[in-house]
Amino acid sequence: MDDPLRRLLTRWELQPPRFDAYDFRRPQAEFLYRLIDAAVLVPSTPVGTWDCADCGSVCRLIYVDQPGGGQRTFAACPRCGPMEVRSENLRRYEIDTGNLLDAVFRSYRLSIERLDPVGLWRVGRGKIADRSREVYFVRSCERGAVSTVCDVLGSHGKCCVFAPTRASSRTLSQQLSCVVIGLEDVIDWQDHAFLLDDDAINGRFGSLETLPKPTKSKPKRSTRAAAIEALRQELNAHIVAAADHAFDTEARTGTPVLLPRPTQAELAARINVSAPTLSRCMEDRSAPELRILWDAADDVYEVMKWRKLAAKNRR
Ligand SMILES: [Zn+2]
Repeated sequence: MDDPLRRLLTRWELQPPRFDAYDFRRPQAEFLYRLIDAAVLVPSTPVGTWDCADCGSVCRLIYVDQPGGGQRTFAACPRCGPMEVRSENLRRYEIDTGNLLDAVFRSYRLSIERLDPVGLWRVGRGKIADRSREVYFVRSCERGAVSTVCDVLGSHGKCCVFAPTRASSRTLSQQLSCVVIGLEDVIDWQDHAFLLDDDAINGRFGSLETLPKPTKSKPKRSTRAAAIEALRQELNAHIVAAADHAFDTEARTGTPVLLPRPTQAELAARINVSAPTLSRCMEDRSAPELRILWDAADDVYEVMKWRKLAAKNRR
């Protein structure tokens, strides 16, 4: 994923989700200017203090009105004396969550509404995995908001919850019975617009609903498509085994233990392809579910979650 996009999503988890002059100095500030044009980033309170570039002291800011109108700003360094600070270096911008949700989820039927003061939002409805589903969004879920989210969403088993980052989606996923997706796994920035990867999103619901039977014989020479299918089956089978192991160890010891994920070299050997072919399969844009399965296999709570979803889907 593009780096500025990841930074935007990471910043969205913070309170306030703010950008200052430092962010605009980095390369690809153009991305942030686009977001300002789209009112996704809106002006925030200006910087209140300034760090002296020479000695590092925290300086008070002094605003001096100019005779012809306008204002100049000086940082009063206790050691080096006053120095002028350019006004563009004091500007700060904050993410307008409602507007960013609007820009990200424009392919859904939107009814954006803030449901609690911290970070739970209703987004609307979207057609996901052959079903119209309620879509919710949660940001900065580490800040004690998880229990509120659970109270509101506890009974919405078939809804889809998005969080900005993969890390927070995993935290939430452990608490909620519905599917939680980290936007960083499924979003791209193309032609000055956000683009959601519908296949990857559907894949979170679909992979275990269509669990294929294990193949009897390994293909000798695989085309890419055959290798992808074989890899999907291997990873699915591993997750099923890992879930068994996790529930079993949890029942015996109180703590679920993760069955080690096979390495990519081991997987390549199992499906009888070369290591480079395997990594090309993993990167293949037509098979985003492979990356999702691969990540899930490395997280004990994810594999347990997948089992619960699979059981629910069979009912
Ligand atoms: Zn100084």
